[in-house]
Amino acid sequence: MDFNRYAERSAGLLNADLSDVDALRALLADRPWLLEHCTDRDCMLLRRLQRDLRPVFEASARGDDAAVVEGLNELMVRHPVTPRISGHDGDLHIHAASKTQSVAELLTGEALLGLANLVCDLGPTRLGVCAEARCDDVFVDTSPNASRRYCSERCSSRANVAAYRARRRAVASA
Ligand SMILES: [Zn+2]
Ligand SMILES: [Zn+2]
Repeated sequence: MDFNRYAERSAGLLNADLSDVDALRALLADRPWLLEHCTDRDCMLLRRLQRDLRPVFEASARGDDAAVVEGLNELMVRHPVTPRISGHDGDLHIHAASKTQSVAELLTGEALLGLANLVCDLGPTRLGVCAEARCDDVFVDTSPNASRRYCSERCSSRANVAAYRARRRAVASA
């Protein structure tokens, strides 16, 4: 797992419904070994993280570099990350929690390590909030030209259709 993927997953974590354990399990469907460890407490802690991390994405979206860095540094003080070297799938790589930590601690560690690394690698303005009018999902932009504006293909095409209709209306009423 590389850190950019941790960062991308953090956007998925912020956009996810975490109302109960089933919802958390749905988010983690591609990591079956975590499913049996999910608890109500993890959901509660991760909902709090969603609230705490959103301002960092909003600061990045408006180009406030200092607020992004301060926000992440502050969150890493509140949630100390314990990296761990693991070789379970052959290659040595870094996990973002010790073996005894909870699912919430693991996902929090992955999000913070991933975002901190992304900010240092690609700069502090690579996080964003979807530009589609009815969507407030967040995204991480790892595209080479930093041109991403929407959380998903779906929102991108919805916005294109809306813009097309607006142009047609403008022509019709001219
Ligand atoms: Zn691993
Ligand atoms: Zn969207």
